[in-house]
Amino acid sequence: MIDPKIIKKEFPVFKNNSNLVYLDSANTSLTPQIVIHKLVEYYENYPANIKRGIYSLSERATAEFEETRKVIASFINAKNKKEVIFTRGTTESINLVAYSLGRKIVNENDEVVVSVLEHHSNFVPWQVLAQEMGAVFKVIDINDEGILTIVKDNSSEVSLDDVITKKTKILALAYISNVLGTVNPLKEIIKKARQINPHIVVVVDAAQAVAHRQVDVQDLDCDFLAFSAHKMFGPKGAGILWGKEQRLEEMFPFQYGGEMIEQVKIEKTTFAKLPEKFEAGTPSIADVTAFKEAVKLIQKLGFSNIQKHEKDLVKKARAQLLHIFGKDINIYGPQNEFSSIVTFNLKGLHPHDVASLLNDKHVCIRAGHHCTMPLHTRFGIPASCRASFSIYNNEDDIEALIKGLLTARKLLTHA
Ligand code: PLP
Repeated sequence: MIDPKIIKKEFPVFKNNSNLVYLDSANTSLTPQIVIHKLVEYYENYPANIKRGIYSLSERATAEFEETRKVIASFINAKNKKEVIFTRGTTESINLVAYSLGRKIVNENDEVVVSVLEHHSNFVPWQVLAQEMGAVFKVIDINDEGILTIVKDNSSEVSLDDVITKKTKILALAYISNVLGTVNPLKEIIKKARQINPHIVVVVDAAQAVAHRQVDVQDLDCDFLAFSAHKMFGPKGAGILWGKEQRLEEMFPFQYGGEMIEQVKIEKTTFAKLPEKFEAGTPSIADVTAFKEAVKLIQKLGFSNIQKHEKDLVKKARAQLLHIFGKDINIYGPQNEFSSIVTFNLKGLHPHDVASLLNDKHVCIRAGHHCTMPLHTRFGIPASCRASFSIYNNEDDIEALIKGLLTARKLLTHA
């Protein structure tokens, strides 16, 4: 069972901001003391560079850094820890694949496929790649509920066979939408995509999934998976690109420089083996080191408890919002599938005004297009309000949100 009152005590931000109602964890999650402690431990005790010092401090830093790789590999069920590459986050991970593999395998008239609900990080790199290589950029639509039209039983005429062809080189999809909370049935989609085209490369943006559900890369059978530490209680500035070993082997390096080489000669340079081939320069050592503490926290709480807690909150939040605002609220996303997100608009009120007035009550939500302009265009709206829930939220937070929204409506409609 998740007890937010106890969990809150592990997040110092609540001690330092006593009235805080934080409903923006889909943007970035809060940081627990154990992660902060590990960050400080690194800087206070072994702040050396990794893999470059024949002395104890550097050896300790290297061991702590590499331990995170082991923890992450097991967390996502990677076959081998060398398939786990440290990056700055989801954005860098996806750009890495678009650059280092995309530019190698995508040719003129090939196809690159994404969906309209993607975060810009999993949309723009593929759009630009397709433009540069003269490939066709295909965008899978959603229905009005926010479910991909290719998903079976959603009464759409479109199927994956209409989208994926033998010319499709890359399919890049989010596991969970950062706006609608739609959970894409990736396992079935990937299986079907591989039946149509066995050579397809599948890239999964798992930024919104990893803190909320078990992600198993072998079970999904994707080629790449990208996520960020900061959305799962870890430090800002560290992220993961997981890739199937064979795929990573065939890719160009992403950046050139220190630690990613094998031999440098005036005539020619050869590159290090995995994972170092993709980890040029000095990484964000403290962030990577502390990342494992966040994973351990999630594992200690357990995904079934986390999911139950978040689903209960989202269900209640949706029901209460609908009950109080009725026809004056539009809630977006699938009705029967609850992730940790409630995205909405109050009729006639601009999301930025709403968020700003909520802030006066110490309620933090996100307002804007949430880096999903194509999705907002699909719904014919410029922006929306998003409340996202996590392990430290409880029903008091829903109450504070609703009270704040009622005040905002009153002020804005009488302005
Ligand atoms: N993909 C999704 C679904 C996201 O929600 C986000 C961040 O909001 C990203 C990608 C980008 O993550 P980052 O900014 O950590 O690189």
